Amino acid sequence: MRIYKEFYFDAAHFLPDAPDGHPNRRMHGHSFRVVIWLEGRPNPATGILRHFEDFESALMAVREELDHHMLNDIEGLEKPTLEHIAVWIWERLKGPLPEIAQVEIHRASCREGCIYTGPEA
Ligand SMILES: [Zn+2]
Repeated sequence: MRIYKEFYFDAAHFLPDAPDGHPNRRMHGHSFRVVIWLEGRPNPATGILRHFEDFESALMAVREELDHHMLNDIEGLEKPTLEHIAVWIWERLKGPLPEIAQVEIHRASCREGCIYTGPEA
């Protein structure tokens, strides 16, 4: 069984490896929607896989590190592609949320996104 929660953040970035003259090489911003999926079996006594309050507080700690920040300045996000951001979020959440099964990032204004299901997948 899987449960999910989502959060939003706004941030600036640029892609240092984009070709000369490409707009992605200049600093710009996006609104990102992130959906985190947890997988497991609900505790038979409580019917709960993970309390949504715990889930929420783990996500808010990550959101705090990203929202209204310059992503390139964050350690590990020097090349802040969607793919790198997804892995970075996974690495941050696997401790507090060991049931993590999937990280989705949606950049709606660009009609694009990324899904990461972990290092083994
Ligand atoms: Zn961009």
